[in-house]
Amino acid sequence: MQIEQTLSIIKPNVIIKNSIGSIISRLEKAGLFIVASKMIKLNWEKAVSFYIEHKNKSFFEDLIHFISSSPIIVQVLEGYNAVQRNREIMGNTNPKLALSGTLRSDYSDSIVENSIHGSDSIISAKKEINFFFKTKEIFSRI
Ligand code: AMP
Repeated sequence: MQIEQTLSIIKPNVIIKNSIGSIISRLEKAGLFIVASKMIKLNWEKAVSFYIEHKNKSFFEDLIHFISSSPIIVQVLEGYNAVQRNREIMGNTNPKLALSGTLRSDYSDSIVENSIHGSDSIISAKKEINFFFKTKEIFSRI
């Protein structure tokens, strides 16, 4: 097992429901360490830039509208196999398919408003972490 870092975004529907702490608590209890964290509000252009790989998808406008609709929490999570571990804790992108007890099963409102984002590979994690954080803002703890 190797120590990895992954990017997590707590999405607007969680912020609006005042459930930030519940999500963070579940990530920590599952063995992930928060090594960088901030609340930000994405404007339309920055949201498009983050999700550019989905620009031709039918849900793209809904996704950009949602993610830029209120503040979000962006975090770097660190831990053993953090990319895959975080994806297990989050569950399937579609909350209807997410296993019971996963974050997306418990906190989503729809497939777009699915409560949390996590990097899907080590390569994307590096890219996504660089998108939001400078190296000096990340405090590795393992
Ligand atoms: P991904 O890059 O796969 O994590 O997808 C980014 C986000 O797009 C997901 O977290 C969902 O909010 C949204 N999304 C992905 N697939 C769909 C879909 N089939 N329908 C609607 N929204 C989706």
